[in-house]
Amino acid sequence: MTLTSFIEVPADSHFPIQNLPYGVFSTNGGTPRVGVRIGTYVLDLSVLEAAGLLPQPSVFAQSSLNAFMAQGREAWRTVRSRLQELLASDNPTLRDHAEMRRNALTPVADVTLHLPVEIGDYTDFYSSKEHATNMGTMFRGKDNALMPNWLYIPVAYHGRASSVVLSGTDVYRPYGQIKPEDGPPVLAPSRVMDFELEMGYFIGTGNDLGTPIPVDQAADHFFGMVLVNDWSARDIQRWEYQPLGPFLAKNMATSISPWVVSLDALEPFLCAAPPQDPAPLSYLDHAGDQAYDINLEVLLQSESMTEPMSIARSNFKYMYWHIAQQLAHHTITGCNMRPGDLMASGTLSGPTPDTYGSMLEITWRGENPLELTTGETRKFLQDGDRLTITGWAQGDGYQVGFGEVMGRVMAPRTKMEHS
Ligand code: MN
Repeated sequence: MTLTSFIEVPADSHFPIQNLPYGVFSTNGGTPRVGVRIGTYVLDLSVLEAAGLLPQPSVFAQSSLNAFMAQGREAWRTVRSRLQELLASDNPTLRDHAEMRRNALTPVADVTLHLPVEIGDYTDFYSSKEHATNMGTMFRGKDNALMPNWLYIPVAYHGRASSVVLSGTDVYRPYGQIKPEDGPPVLAPSRVMDFELEMGYFIGTGNDLGTPIPVDQAADHFFGMVLVNDWSARDIQRWEYQPLGPFLAKNMATSISPWVVSLDALEPFLCAAPPQDPAPLSYLDHAGDQAYDINLEVLLQSESMTEPMSIARSNFKYMYWHIAQQLAHHTITGCNMRPGDLMASGTLSGPTPDTYGSMLEITWRGENPLELTTGETRKFLQDGDRLTITGWAQGDGYQVGFGEVMGRVMAPRTKMEHS
């Protein structure tokens, strides 16, 4: 029988009792604390904790999830099953306690959401074969599309944690060095602002410096997942990316969705990862269902549009290198991960043009502009454009969803002298 809650949850909600993602919120300018989303409500875990209804030590009257993340998978599972118990239709503890319900449950419309995690480090992978092939085809030609290392290494770069921002935060078009076809580079605002459809996963428990995480234990280190938009300035990227990879092209902002969905909530959606040929080196070899079937959709709304239009649909399961392989590779040197570190997938493009996860691919470098419902066209993102990514796993009669990550592109915040 399907588990149900005494809190009414609409059938198409991303947040039924099967999900229970974690976030950080405040009300009326008060202190941020940890909450769980259920339907259209936020459940204040610091209230339940103070009432002695959750295991100790106390980790929820805090402005980030980090302390809870550091406790490890067994503790996460205990809290999750306790919350499912307390929210179940047939449990009177909270259901029939009017005062506690008043204190613990707030409509999501009445709360302010905060960045849920204090992020120490951020690493962005490049793990979609379709995306890497598309990029390589555009920049190096079809015959050299995949670099020779790509099928052996889960390629990544170390990103910038300080500019990871919450959904709803405006993103300012960056200045940078841009190289015209002929002549020396100039300092100018990027003319080719792009999004990247990605998913991110937070490290819960880390590892000691010098001690790699084995691939078959890697999954237990992840606390949960969010949607990610890895904003990219393609003209800055093109001029700077060789030989050390992206630097300024991606450090102006990276947007994440506010609710962290636990791997336990996503477990029913594990599925086969794409076949890997050649076989990975043994430290990356981990067969079985390691991918997750998570539907992803990208929507674009210009300033003159009254509602967003869908511009791409993809799926997290297309990712070639799965999350356990990425973590095993990240730590094979002994690099230490810490609670709250963020790893992201890289752009999640699928096999066909309607599944491409960036404007660069959708319009193929601007050669096939996208026509919007207003008749406007887009090669890349313009000022005022709102870009939204949503994602959900489809269960039997319910969804485990991520809500959305939205950001609006704005003209540069600080005007610089062009030269
Ligand atoms: Mn990226």
